Amino acid sequence: MRLHEQVQKRILDACNSMGLQAQSEYIGKDWRADVFTSANKLQYAFEVQITPQSLKKTQERQAKYIRDGIVGCWLFEKEPARQEVEMEDLPIFKLDAVDDNIFVSLKERKTLPLDIFIHDFLHGKIKFCHTLNPLPKVEILFIEMGCWKCGLVNHIYYIAPFQSPCNTRIEFEEAMWTSDKLAFHPEIINQVKEYVKSEKGQHLNLAVVKERYSNTTKTSYASFGCSECDSIFGDWYIQEAIMETWYGGGIIDRFSFDINFDLDMRQEIPHWCHPDEHDFCE
Ligand SMILES: [Zn+2]
Ligand SMILES: [Zn+2]
Ligand SMILES: [Zn+2]
Repeated sequence: MRLHEQVQKRILDACNSMGLQAQSEYIGKDWRADVFTSANKLQYAFEVQITPQSLKKTQERQAKYIRDGIVGCWLFEKEPARQEVEMEDLPIFKLDAVDDNIFVSLKERKTLPLDIFIHDFLHGKIKFCHTLNPLPKVEILFIEMGCWKCGLVNHIYYIAPFQSPCNTRIEFEEAMWTSDKLAFHPEIINQVKEYVKSEKGQHLNLAVVKERYSNTTKTSYASFGCSECDSIFGDWYIQEAIMETWYGGGIIDRFSFDINFDLDMRQEIPHWCHPDEHDFCE
């Protein structure tokens, strides 16, 4: 069986196993859907595209579905070029056939078996969101910092990149700066202190976080300093130490916890969100 027919059949099977009526090669006014079905009072047309089709052509065909009030969902083996930005009125996903298994990818975020994708799409578990929003969860990474004055080994920390509910890493520039407000947010400092007191964290010699005067910047700001002699650890040294860990190694310990304040880190990244057991990005 050719891949196109194979995928069509799997989509039919997936619909049937959900108790839905579905038809292949369903003919409408001036269109023909590879698989057509209805669920929750909505009509769906699944289009399997093994041969390449331009974005323009796809949009023309999609316009007919939109006109007729049908949700057109496109599964491409090779996604059309110029489609880096995901679109609300044109759900396009990537098909991957590995031996007998057929998968659907939501960009780099995740890959689902075809039947699960169909099930979740028809059940509204895949929704278009205009923004990516991180989960309210923080991961703390500890690294070593030798005191430049007395030589004592201290441990400082930084916040790992955040994760969206739909499995995207959310980098934020400030994460690399310990002087940023987030790392020194009272709730985060408290959690870190509690961790260092616990059995798991007691091996750490946490540098002391407080306001110190910096001769370099001629201002006072929250900073890490030596737990023994209180010498300030400058941002530049801390950034260097953090950056070294990006290339592997150097993370002494880590722990995560849920936070109770708003991270306020939404990013304008439109996407088809599949958050599993979490809430949608919006
Ligand atoms: Zn179901
Ligand atoms: Zn010291
Ligand atoms: Zn999302």
